[in-house]
Amino acid sequence: MSRFTLPRDIYFGQGSLATLKTLKGKKAVVVVGGSSMQKFGFLAKVVNYLEEANIQVKLIEGVEPDPSVETVMKGASIMREFEPDWIVSIGGGSPIDAAKAMWIFYEYPEFTFEQAIIPFGLPELRQKAKFIAIPSTSGTGTEVTSFSVITDYKKKIKYPIADFNITPDIAIVDPELAQTMPQKLIAHTGLDALTHAIEAYVAGLSSVFSDPLALEAIVMVKDHLFNSYNGDKEARNQMHSAQCLAGMAFSNALLGITHSMAHKTGAVFNIPHGCANAIYLPYVIQYNSKKCSHRYATIARRLDLSGQTDSELVDSLVEWIQAMDKKMNVPLTLKDYGITEEDFKSNVEYVSHNAVLDACTGSNPREIDDKTMIKLFNCIYYGEKVTF
Ligand code: FE
Repeated sequence: MSRFTLPRDIYFGQGSLATLKTLKGKKAVVVVGGSSMQKFGFLAKVVNYLEEANIQVKLIEGVEPDPSVETVMKGASIMREFEPDWIVSIGGGSPIDAAKAMWIFYEYPEFTFEQAIIPFGLPELRQKAKFIAIPSTSGTGTEVTSFSVITDYKKKIKYPIADFNITPDIAIVDPELAQTMPQKLIAHTGLDALTHAIEAYVAGLSSVFSDPLALEAIVMVKDHLFNSYNGDKEARNQMHSAQCLAGMAFSNALLGITHSMAHKTGAVFNIPHGCANAIYLPYVIQYNSKKCSHRYATIARRLDLSGQTDSELVDSLVEWIQAMDKKMNVPLTLKDYGITEEDFKSNVEYVSHNAVLDACTGSNPREIDDKTMIKLFNCIYYGEKVTF
């Protein structure tokens, strides 16, 4: 038996944030990141809409990028004191992911972080609160996914929490919030969305339900990401939808080793999630194509890329991704990203070992062990074609 789970409601389009006015409940905690949502007035709008609905509001502000276990536990204890029946999270992936994890420890204070990172092992949520996610960046898809990524800074490791229990109840995909993204963030988040869609299309649990979402998201990235990067407002709106489609796909189909590697190098090499994915994806496609070249060829055909045989089409797909990277100032190798050879060599075994153990490795179409992962990282560092 397979399962396909999405939020019950997705409100989308310009002005959809106002749907908060119609919410039924008593108390809402609003989880938010740094200052951008305040600065652009979206936080005030959220609070006003909730108050219009006669809901008492408490803010949990200042969730850092790549939120820590400590931030999660602190937020959960604030929730236990305030006892909200709604958790509203607004911002980039970080505050939404942090809020999802806070939700677990709000409802189950005795639960531990070590238990929470066991895939699909969470207890039944929604005993105390339901969850709303409002994304302000166009990449993570976290407003519709069963994932949350939390960083353990002592171990320098990002841990994905995966469980349909943390799939939000309501997603509000209002493109107005995404109009404020700086250019670099547009590139990184957009390429993260592309990675979600491509990994989902070849992942272990890809299905007839996830495939159309993944393919459409990839086509939309091709049509709109570069224009969005260059400031086109309508293209930015389209990317906000595209990343959500990609999120729906990968939440159910799962991901692959591009994400395993990005999770495990993020803190060690100080490399933003989307940027890491953009660099690694072409090499992972070359590696996985030994197993599923026909799936990548299908993507390449949908994108009208050149080639007759599967292997020509895979090459075209890799070239297209690297051309996109280049156009948006994303380096093609870890060396060009600025990691010194010394830094790379002293960490490659550690990150390879951890990447193999990452929750996303299990759904990658081709298996991998520590030794091969080290070889793959070497190709990525020096920019060599993956031929094994
Ligand atoms: Fe991602």
